[in-house]
Amino acid sequence: MVRVRFAPSPTGTLHIGGVRTALYNYLLARKLGGQFILRIEDTDQTRYVPGAEEYIIEALRWTGLVPDEGVGFGGEYGPYRQSDRKAMYAEYAQQLIERGNAYYAFDTAEELDQQRSSTENFIYGSSTRMGLRNSLALSKAETETLLANGTPAVIRLKIDPGQSILINDLIRGEVVFQSDELDDKVLLKTDGMPTYHLANIVDDHLMKITHVIRGEEWLSSTAHHVLLYRGFGWEDTMPQFAHLPLIMKPEGNGKLSKRDGAKFGIPVFPLAWVSDDPEQNAPGFRENGFVPEAVVNFLALLGWHPEGEQEIFTMDELISAFSLEKISKGGARFDYEKAKWFNQKYIQAMDNVALANIIRPYAESKNYTATEDFLVKVAELMKERVTFVQDFTETGYYLFEKVRIYDADTVAKKWKPEVKPVFSELTSVIEQCSDFSAAALEETVKTFIHDKALKPGDILPLLRIALAGTMKGPAVFDMAAMLGKTETVERLRLFENV
Ligand code: GLU
Repeated sequence: MVRVRFAPSPTGTLHIGGVRTALYNYLLARKLGGQFILRIEDTDQTRYVPGAEEYIIEALRWTGLVPDEGVGFGGEYGPYRQSDRKAMYAEYAQQLIERGNAYYAFDTAEELDQQRSSTENFIYGSSTRMGLRNSLALSKAETETLLANGTPAVIRLKIDPGQSILINDLIRGEVVFQSDELDDKVLLKTDGMPTYHLANIVDDHLMKITHVIRGEEWLSSTAHHVLLYRGFGWEDTMPQFAHLPLIMKPEGNGKLSKRDGAKFGIPVFPLAWVSDDPEQNAPGFRENGFVPEAVVNFLALLGWHPEGEQEIFTMDELISAFSLEKISKGGARFDYEKAKWFNQKYIQAMDNVALANIIRPYAESKNYTATEDFLVKVAELMKERVTFVQDFTETGYYLFEKVRIYDADTVAKKWKPEVKPVFSELTSVIEQCSDFSAAALEETVKTFIHDKALKPGDILPLLRIALAGTMKGPAVFDMAAMLGKTETVERLRLFENV
């Protein structure tokens, strides 16, 4: 049974790269009939941010990446929040000591600082540890006395020199680390709390994780993780590793950072982050008007390259096409324009009734009164013309309220003195129409234009401007039919009088 996990730390907003990590885990689980688990890695209480866990869960729900197990989702391998598992980690660290693969270290922060400043590239490891204060360098009796006296001690991983550690990364292939270059990582802190490394490995083991799919920044920790599996004697069930490529800045140089959102005026988070600290607040894809399906499709292709030219994938299509082998090693450029393109495509393809449901809260927030039928019509007429969901009520405001501003160019070009009386006459003709369907209106107006020996270009642009203020709106007769006779005539008269 394939079991994968998304294991974020609740240290603030979830970067969009984190959502991509969750997505790839989810896709692999679904593809192979496995389980997708959410584990909250909150052992570093100094970095804990209130609300971050709820944010993560909401982001997963919004994108449809709903875990099978995890914090907020139940499951048989819980608890899934590391702070709720705290008691067990010390026992595992102890086990490693007993197996000769870990040791106590009593060095104080000052002593370590001193080592760092006096020795260039100091690492706490096989070449230095015998000169430091730990249970390998001290006698058994000294160690026991220190422990009995309650001297603060950490537990460190004991790394033997002269080993090559080979990782068969599913994306990167063979990656080799030399143990001499690795430090004896702290596993358990003086307060009894585990570090990321210990908690992560113990939990992956206990939760029977088969594949660890995570960001490239964790590749360098993997050598330590492999040694931990060996240290515990868990090598046989060690998960396979897959390290995802970095997400690069829109212009392609360097890693996309949380600060790039503000810098480029683009969202780099799935949902907006709203807190008491305005410095921390940031926009999200959701609040910027993206539909979640478009975000998922965009993220799926950020580093994963399926065969063929297809770009639009439903979730089911993603699941069936997905494979870790098709993920590239090189960084993937965060192309916001492409994200917008996906959003347009998804909005265009969406069912009008579903879109009406999306538009409704925006309309309500502006106090527009609109029936279901009307919103469905708005969806139908505008969906080819919008990028974001709020565009229906923003750029398309004129479908809900009177025109605020008439396109000056068109007015200057078309609103000629000789046209004005004809336009008035047309308004009266329109007022007499008994059939207010788009087709009937078109027929009436075209006949009128013909009878007056005018050209469509003399009149139709003015009708458009009168109804929408812009030349970019939906087809004019569709709009008129949708607005209905009273509103249409009112708008035509308002325009005549400007
Ligand atoms: N807690 C780590 C993070 O915040 C998890 C890394 C991993 O998946 O092992 O990304």
